Amino acid sequence: MAILPIAKVGNPILRQISKPVDPDVISSRKFQEFLDDMFETMFHFEGIGLAAPQVARSEQVVVMECQGTDGIPHTVLINPKIIFYGPSQSEMWEGCLSIDNMRGKVVRPSMVRVQALDRRGTLQDIEANGLYAVCIQHEMDHLLGKLFIDRMTDLSTLTQLEEFDAYWREESATVI
Ligand code: ZN
Repeated sequence: MAILPIAKVGNPILRQISKPVDPDVISSRKFQEFLDDMFETMFHFEGIGLAAPQVARSEQVVVMECQGTDGIPHTVLINPKIIFYGPSQSEMWEGCLSIDNMRGKVVRPSMVRVQALDRRGTLQDIEANGLYAVCIQHEMDHLLGKLFIDRMTDLSTLTQLEEFDAYWREESATVI
């Protein structure tokens, strides 16, 4: 396994639309190793989600995992599609491994249903709420060349990490 370098905001690959993965390559050793590398990279940099464009690969692949009660199960999404958005919205602080040391509030639907292939190439149908739903939307935005700062409707909440810790961390139960 390997820790892959993270593409940072300003890198054009973060603004490209990702290509779907050919389902026939999913079972290949090379692709399986890439998935393992994505998880290792995500854990190394203490993220809870990572999309392939963030490691300079413009393909529709997302990995996610977060321990804890309001956590996220070990998830691989290949060629994901959101097929339903819930009617209510939630506002959550977001951060991104591609945007160092920044946080900002984003409003998104608080429930989504997503269909995607898993690492065996099997179609999965996931209904996600709360942090999981927000993380899915954040990571899938990367596949569209979008970053959380594009989704902020009020840039006045854009906060450097040090100031976030000093002034805002207490009020927020969860941060992605
Ligand atoms: Zn991100």
